[in-house]
Parts: sequence; C-alpha cells; structure tokens
Amino acid sequence: MNAASVLPPRYFNFAPFRGAAGHGALALMYHQLLRPRRDSPLRGLCVAPELFRRQLAELRAAGLTAVSPADAYAEKANSRVVITFDDGFANVLTGAVGTLRENNFTAINYLVADRLGKTNDWDAPLGEPPAPLMDVAQVRDWLAACQSIGAHTLTHPHLTRIPLAQARAEIFDAKKKLEDQFGVAIEHFCYPYGGFNETIRGFVIEAGYRTACGTAPGIVNADADRFSFPRFLASHRRPGAAAWLPFVPARWL
Ligand SMILES: [Zn+2]
Repeated sequence: MNAASVLPPRYFNFAPFRGAAGHGALALMYHQLLRPRRDSPLRGLCVAPELFRRQLAELRAAGLTAVSPADAYAEKANSRVVITFDDGFANVLTGAVGTLRENNFTAINYLVADRLGKTNDWDAPLGEPPAPLMDVAQVRDWLAACQSIGAHTLTHPHLTRIPLAQARAEIFDAKKKLEDQFGVAIEHFCYPYGGFNETIRGFVIEAGYRTACGTAPGIVNADADRFSFPRFLASHRRPGAAAWLPFVPARWL
C-alpha cells in the first residue's frame, strides 16, 4: 500500500479495501436492511437484505472475522471487521440475524433508547417515510441471537446543537435506560449524525463508554481515537471512481 492508493468513500464490495484492511480493522455502518425506495430521501442508507448477505459472505470468504468495537483496536487488528447498525430498525432483526449466524459474525446495533417500538421520527423533517424500530421484545430477540447493542442517545438529537445539560442526559441516560431494560453492559456509543465536539466526547468518556463511533470514513487501528472511530457507510451502489479518496495509512485513523 502506498500513498497513491485510493479507497471508495463508501463500502460496496471488498476488493478495493483489501490492501487497507491489512492496516487495521474495517468498520462498516449499516442502517436499514431494506431494498432502497425511490420515494426515500435517505435511500442511500438502505441496503437490501440479499446484498447484505452477499457483502458478508464476501468478507468471510476473504478471511475476515467480526469483532466488537473494543476489539478493533488490538495491535494486529487487520482482517477484522466491525459490523455496526445505527438506529435499531426492526428490518435489521429480520434481515440480518440469519446472515450473521451463517457467517459466524456478530454485529452491534446502536439503539435510540426512548424510541424503542416507535419510528425514526427524527428523519421525518426530511420527508423520509417512517420505518419501525425494534421494540423491547425484538431487542431481546437480537440479544438472544448473540448480537450486541450500544447507545445512540435517547432521542437522536444533534448533540452539538442542544443545551449541554440536555446533551449530557442524552448520553448518560441512554446508557442507564438500556442497561436497566436489558441487563447487559452498554459500553459503546454512536454520535447521531456523527456530530460531536470535545465537550460531547468528554461526556461519553465520563459516562463510562469504552468506544464511540462517528461517520467519517477510515480504517481503525491501534492509534485510532476510541471515542470517534471511523466507519465506511455500506452502500447499495458501487461508488463512482471519481469520488475515491486517497489512502495514506498513517493519516487514516
Ligand atoms: Zn442515527
């Protein structure tokens, strides 16, 4: 791998990432497992379950193993993938569990603690059709399938645009609420919209989370910031070659 290498800005298939995956863990960001709808402004966040199945089969065939966000930082974390889902959509339970099991992979789903069993109301102002989020029983099914959960706040706000006390409560209370409800440690956090600053990051650390992820693309290695680790958005489309990004391992933290 040299400085002239390039990577797509989104993840569609493994081939362009093969070299970069030798430098650390590849974290993938999924949202809905749903065939993209023409009337959905956020269809770029949808991957059909059949494509998800092909993407995971390819990762397994390439020799990657799926790990938790905390395990992405090991000294030799290459050949590892962190499979993440944002928002806790119900179609992830139906669309992902069988595929994850087939490949012996685990994934983490970042839940919006006050929206379980409701819909993605935070996307409504964009004209996005509402989609059901997992309810408490469905989250239990997800956990029973040996999958894990993290926190994605209480209500999915832009954490840097609300009063600090409110942002702090969104971070602290989501952890406590999910821990009380499901009886598992909530150790991983996901910033809504990838938005954070030093104060917000500090709240996440103070609350006792072990990692947090944003939405910037990059490879996770031992030097990466545990409280803003990068991810590639998994896409239903192959990105155009013009959009590819220069890959310089030392800068891709
Ligand atoms: Zn989200």
